[in-house]
Amino acid sequence: MHDIIDRCSAEYETRRLQALDSYQILDTPEESAFDEIVEVVSIICEAPIAVINFIDRDRQWFKSEKGLGVRETPLDISICAHAILQPGLFIVPDTTRDPRFANNPLVTGEPHLRFYSGALLESRDGYPLGTLCVLDYQPRELAERQRFALQALANQVMAHMQLMQAHSEQAELIRELKATRQELTKLAATDPLTGLLNRRAFEQRYNQELALIQRGAPAAALMMIDLDHFKTVNDTLGHQAGDEVIVRFAELCREAFRQADVMGRWGGEEFVVMLPKASVAEAQHAAERLHRLLATTPMRDGSSSSLYISASIGICSMSSSSTMDESLHITDELLYQAKEQGRNRTVCETEGTSLQR
Ligand code: GH3
Ligand code: MG
Ligand code: MG
Repeated sequence: MHDIIDRCSAEYETRRLQALDSYQILDTPEESAFDEIVEVVSIICEAPIAVINFIDRDRQWFKSEKGLGVRETPLDISICAHAILQPGLFIVPDTTRDPRFANNPLVTGEPHLRFYSGALLESRDGYPLGTLCVLDYQPRELAERQRFALQALANQVMAHMQLMQAHSEQAELIRELKATRQELTKLAATDPLTGLLNRRAFEQRYNQELALIQRGAPAAALMMIDLDHFKTVNDTLGHQAGDEVIVRFAELCREAFRQADVMGRWGGEEFVVMLPKASVAEAQHAAERLHRLLATTPMRDGSSSSLYISASIGICSMSSSSTMDESLHITDELLYQAKEQGRNRTVCETEGTSLQR
């Protein structure tokens, strides 16, 4: 695509810089993989100076350098900036005899560079990013085998960078996958309307807690909550308003219970709460807190007539022998009693209760 764009155009330069950015190599620390390539190319080409450099917006930056002692230099005195304008090897046998470099301060002054040979570092999609180059203080040439080595090692620099890029892209993908999986797991465990745990997830948490109790952790309490006369809410205000009330109720539950308590929507307008390390009496306190919140909190914002609801609650203790089915059976019975006694109240399992486990 880029070969139909003028190589001197601003658009081409923008794309070239994007290609360079995509490798995320600029301003990274020195790395032995690159330093070794620079060392080897310097030995093979018998050159005192060797660098891997990239042409950035307004500077040339060295990933690795031998014999120069700096990590970057301004672009206006760069010889490599010329090298990236043409494919393959760029060789200047004597800089003082080349009108492009004869007046370059690096040639006329310190370090008096006289010889330059650079092999292009090209991105996968063909953009020139920089060079692997060797320099010398006297005019000279490169033998055929040295030219070959310079080009082959430049290819190795790019191959290594492609691998690093692929590796970091893969790491990013893995991060995204993990985040998505976490999100999906959360979605699969929650009731979409209230964000509380759904039945399956609650059961899982119940069984985890039961296993802890069986291994000696303190008993927990289980609570079953059913909204009173909820059908009337739907019948008078509509199903949508009923949904809003259910959402609001879940918010009040979050206020009434502790962080460690596990809340779930069992179905319809029925909710379950497991209170780890809580006695029945402690759970009853929490239930009273919820009754009070319900009595004082209107369930719909911005509606002309205030709507208050109440709930009936059954609480039992969860000991090492309490399977989920048994505990639910008990809370159901207690809840039924609460309804029978006039609703808007909590009935707790008492010691010596007639309820059968
Ligand atoms: P009680 O005090 O005996 O519990 O009376 P109730 O009206 O709450 O009990 P009933 O079981 O007769 O009715 C429950 C109602 O809850 C009926 C059903 O339409 C409504 N309901 C269940 N799930 C939802 C829901 O997700 N959204 C709405 N808006 N209503 C629901
Ligand atoms: Mg019900
Ligand atoms: Mg109900």
